[in-house]
Amino acid sequence: MVRVGVIGLQGDVGEHIEASKRALENLGISGEVIWLRKPRQLEGISAIIIPGGESTTISRLMVKNGLLEPVRKLGEEGIPIMGTCAGLIMLSKEVIGATPEQRFLELLDVKVNRNAYGRQVDSFEAPIKLAFSDEPFPGVFIRAPRIVELLSERVKPIAWLGDRVVGVEQGNLIGLEFHPELTEDTRVHEYFLKKAL
Ligand code: GLN
Repeated sequence: MVRVGVIGLQGDVGEHIEASKRALENLGISGEVIWLRKPRQLEGISAIIIPGGESTTISRLMVKNGLLEPVRKLGEEGIPIMGTCAGLIMLSKEVIGATPEQRFLELLDVKVNRNAYGRQVDSFEAPIKLAFSDEPFPGVFIRAPRIVELLSERVKPIAWLGDRVVGVEQGNLIGLEFHPELTEDTRVHEYFLKKAL
């Protein structure tokens, strides 16, 4: 029985909960998916998702609710964590364009640029190539951060938009510029949740 927690302080939490439930069902895994707000809910957790939203707000609320340090520790211990969009920013080691008070988990060896896409193209949909599937994936980008540098050999590309890397994996961690939770396609959630078995 796996226990998946979606950090539920701000952002598209409900969508990740639904996508995770569908993914578990497709994989034939019994488990629960919880709206994670308090550190005590981390007990017995098998996987954590940090949603898209506004990374300054998610950061502030994770600090306020006492979640930042315990989640970092779990990530270091090997608990699978996936961050999408603002969640990718939260996972990153280096962030261009952060506000001075913004705090990060600093687990994923990437440098990202917040709000890197210009205003005119701040939201778009485009097919993504995935490392683990032959069929293209519908990539939804909403004021997405851009992965501008991979900072170590540990971090591996797993998703591309053309020849640009838009998703990475580093052992137990996955960071994506786009929002798989805003599509009906559960391949990315399935790939991630297999790490929790
Ligand atoms: N640009 C936003 C931020 O910095 C992220 C946007 C998103 O998650 N859709 O938090």
